[in-house]
Formats: sequence, C-alpha cells, structure tokens
Amino acid sequence: MPPGNSITEVLNTTFGISSFRPRQEEVITSVLAGHDTLVVMPTGGGKSLCYQLPAILLPGTTLVISPLISLMKDQVDKLNVLGIAAAALNSSQQYTEAKNIYRQFESGEIKLLYVAPERLESPSFLELLERTSISLIAIDEAHCISQWGHDFRRSYRRIPQVYASFEKRPPVIALTATATPDVRADIVKQIQLTDPLEVVNGFERPNIRYSTLIDEQKDVRLIDLLYSVAGSAVVYTSSRAKVEKLTMTLRQLGFAAESYHAGMPMEQREEVQNNFLQGKSRVIVATSAFGMGIDKADVRLVIHYDIPATLEAYYQESGRAGRDGNEALATLLYNKGDERAQEFLIKRDYPTLYDVQAIYGVLCDSIASRGDALFEEPLYFTAAQLAKKIDREGSSIVRILEMLGEQEIVSLSKINSDSARLSIEPTRDRVRAEEYLYRAKNSMNGQLFRFINSQAGSQALLTTSDDLSSAVQIERYALTKSLRSLEALGLLTIKRLMNFSSDTDVFAIRLIAPIQQWEDIRSRFDHLESALEHSMTKLKQIQEYALRWECRSAAILRYFGERTVSWKCGKCDVCSSKFRTEQEPI
Ligand code: ADP
Ligand code: MG
Repeated sequence: MPPGNSITEVLNTTFGISSFRPRQEEVITSVLAGHDTLVVMPTGGGKSLCYQLPAILLPGTTLVISPLISLMKDQVDKLNVLGIAAAALNSSQQYTEAKNIYRQFESGEIKLLYVAPERLESPSFLELLERTSISLIAIDEAHCISQWGHDFRRSYRRIPQVYASFEKRPPVIALTATATPDVRADIVKQIQLTDPLEVVNGFERPNIRYSTLIDEQKDVRLIDLLYSVAGSAVVYTSSRAKVEKLTMTLRQLGFAAESYHAGMPMEQREEVQNNFLQGKSRVIVATSAFGMGIDKADVRLVIHYDIPATLEAYYQESGRAGRDGNEALATLLYNKGDERAQEFLIKRDYPTLYDVQAIYGVLCDSIASRGDALFEEPLYFTAAQLAKKIDREGSSIVRILEMLGEQEIVSLSKINSDSARLSIEPTRDRVRAEEYLYRAKNSMNGQLFRFINSQAGSQALLTTSDDLSSAVQIERYALTKSLRSLEALGLLTIKRLMNFSSDTDVFAIRLIAPIQQWEDIRSRFDHLESALEHSMTKLKQIQEYALRWECRSAAILRYFGERTVSWKCGKCDVCSSKFRTEQEPI
C-alpha cells in the first residue's frame, strides 16, 4: 500500500477523523520519512495528531516527553478510548503500576509512552531505553526548553542527554504553540534538531482588523474609539497607576469601566472579571496581568494605550478580540514618548552588571563597618538610599536586591513602612529593675521588659518596632506606649536609629553567604547583558511593526514565520487606507 493511503486510512479508521487540517499531512509525512520536525500551531490546532498518527505506523514505541501529569493522563485516556496502546509513567504512580508499564514497554507492547522530563534522569529508565526500540521522540510543549519562553523548565535541558542511550538517535518532533522566532531558534539549538522541517500554521485571525494610530492625544483617540465601536472592550496599559487613572477618566465620561491589575486583591480581581464576563461592565482597563485563561467570546475591541514589550505579547493580548469569529478591532495607540517609557521599564528589569556589583559592594561595606558583633542584625535600606549610595537613579535597585536574593546571596524582607528602627538599651540600675518587675509581674510592661533584657544582654537590642511588636505580641500603638513608660522609669533608653517614612518600602537585608570577592560571584549575573540586549531587540521589532506602512496581519505572520510571500489581509488600517500602500504615513 502506498504510504499516502495508509496515512489517510489510519486517520479515518483509527482516529475517526475525515480529513487533515492544513499542514498536518506534510508534518506527518516528514516525520515518517525520518526527518526532524518543529511544529508551531496555536493551542487546539491539532499538534498531537502529528506524532500520534506516525506512532501507529512506525514500528516500536514513540517516546513522548510532556511537562504535566494532567496533560499526559488526558492524552493517554483519549488514546486508550481509540484502542491505541498508550501509557504514562509519572511520579504519582504506585510501584507495581510503574513496573507493569516498564514490562510492557520492554516487550514492545506500548505504541506511545508519555514521560515527564525528570524521568530522563532516572538511571533505571535510561538503562531500559537501551533495551527497547524507540522509533520517534516527540517533545510536547517544547518551548519549556527555552529561557526566552514563558514557561522555562530546567529539566527540559536534560532531553538531549538521552540521545546517548541510542546507537542512532531516532527522529525528533518538537511541538509548541509559542510562535516567536527567537524561541523557535532556541528550541532547534537546545533540542539539537538536525535540519528540521519547520511548520508554523494557524496564527491568522481573519476577523480582526489591526490598526495603529500615531498620535500624541491618546485619550482623545481612546474615547473616540469607545464611542464609535459598540460592544465589550479591553484597554491595555503599562502601569497600575495608569490603569487607575484611565478608569477614572472613562467613568467620568459615563463608560462602565473597571480596573484590573495584579496589585488588586484576588477577590476584587475576580469580581471585576465576572462583571466583565457577564456584561455588567463594558470596558476593562488593565495591565498585562489581565487575560490569562479568560475566554470572553464577544470582545469587540482591544486597545493598547501603550506599546507592549514584544510583538508576541501584542498578538496574544489583541487576540482576545473576536473569539466568536465576528468582526473585531485591535488598535495600538502610539507616540514617540512610548519608546523611552518602554526602554525605562526594560532597563529596570535588567540592571547592569556594574550596578549589581556596586550594590553588593555597598552591602558588604556596611556589614564590615559595623563589626562582627552585629553580623546577625539586618541592614535596613530603602531603594532610594541605596541608589544614592551608588549615585544612580533608583529604578532598578529593587530588581538588583531581588536578584541577589534569588542567588541566595542575601535574604530580603520588606518592613512595614511606618515601622521605626530602634536601639533599646537596658540601664544598669538593677535595684529599680527588680522592684519594677516585682510590681509589674503580669502586666504588658513587665513582659516587654523581660523580653528586652533577655535579648539585649549587655548591649543594645537593635530591632524594628514591627519585629518587636510581633515578638512580644503587643499591638504597635500599645508597644510605643509601653516603651515610653519603661523609659520614663529609667529602666531603658531608646534611640530611634531610623524612621522609615511611609509610602516607601524598606528592605531588611541580611547577607546569608559569606562576603566574597565580586569576581567569584559575577558569573552568576553574566546573562544580564544578553537578556537586556534580547529585550531591546524585541522592543525594536514591535516599534518597527507600529511604524512600518505594511499590512499589519502580514507583518505579524511574517514575524512568526507563517508567511513568507507577499500577502495582504485586505482589512487592516494599511490595507484599507486611501493612500497607496507604498506610501509612508503622514
Ligand atoms: P494542540 O495543538 O493544542 O495540541 P490537540 O492536538 O490537542 O491540539 O487537538 C485539538 C483537537 O483537535 C483535538 O480534539 C483533536 O482531536 C482535534 N483535531 C486534530 N486534528 C484534527 C483534524 N484534522 N480534524 C478534526 N479534528 C482534529
Ligand atoms: Mg497539545
């Protein structure tokens, strides 16, 4: 039987599907011919079939690497219903169950074996691989291998190590819904695909009319759009403060608008979401925190008040329009100031090595200058204070502290902003102290005094009013009163070392690793430079998208690698412009 026929036959009889979706057949033919293949299709696009169908036709077993137990179980159940021998090995299984699957796998009874990448580190599994016959390796959710992706998993990096278990590595098919060129290139490199066929398909959104408005008067444009287009709308903007401000503006004009950002309490966010889903509100003004897992079919308008950081973020967010297939609008508002604002945000996320070194230096020096006895005592700094010490504007200091925390060089906690840092020294007047304690046996003051005495010993107790309050379980206002009365009795002296002003975060910072030469830890931050460069490149690409006079859909699809030839959507602002398309915008 010619291979073409048998493919269709398996499709019909085993899977009960009458015809292929675009490009599925091409992928399956490539896989069956032994080529490495990379498939990029949106979620629900039909990627699984691209390895499940070859698995039926190939001898031996197809090894499927998948990141989540729930995904695996779901797939295996569906295959079993179709009468296909599929199984999954996962950490939640009983020993006997796993052993049973190992045995079936070894005797070649299983057509598709699903495993989590962690499994590839198990010596017994690797040994088993050498004794079994694997005809195809399928790597699902392959973007997990890339640091540029949104879901990086370290264990995915181990995948190429299993190749050593084979005399000749079987062909590999990698599948993902992440259509960005950088992630795709990274997948090819990390998974070591050899001259793969790359298929990108299904990202076109024919019912969305994309447009870009270049204008300084964004508010006017925004309001204009909301008046002229009926139906639900999402307005994306880059900061929480702008979300609040825009919502106010729109409400004053009578729009049923609500805010959504990650700074809001969970219950409130859920309420806002539900109001929007049920049509009780018309407009959501949100940061990029909005939208994950929200499927409102009839969003007619998605407006970007600020340019997002990447074109794929733009595609994702604007793609929330028109899920029902009816006409929808995606409009990007752009002006020249946007570039600087975005660059600022990116630079805040990726501080320079030089700044990280400087901050580390400040922390080490501060510890050293205090002397050994106080090593346990944290350093207290606001971001602004640290910025001043290294003579740099404060924007990326918080990120630097977080990164030092991630690398377990410091431990970090935030202090209540109206807490005070105190030095409390018990006086040496033992007679009066004894007498006082006798009288104050059960009172709050007695408890507090005993605690301070036991903690301070011969020197001052350095603490914050926050810490002290939780240590002795006394409310802060009462604590201040108690301390004052103890001081009035001459039992202790209190010095306010620092008063943290409200509205700024104060960080309590402890060095948890011994002080080291910068040269010994700098390699841990080496990636910063390329990460910054990477982000800047992505920003340039979306700026180009906004400014170039070219069919918007074509530009997006070309960016994702789906279209290479000249093609036009016929409905975006450029395609429907009165001007000839070669003309620059005026
Ligand atoms: P994803 O790309 O997200 O992995 P799946 O492989 O899970 O998507 O497929 C999504 C759905 O589409 C499944 O129910 C699958 O059976 C169905 N499907 C896949 N290919 C076809 C096809 N050619 N015709 C009809 N349905 C298909
Ligand atoms: Mg899938």
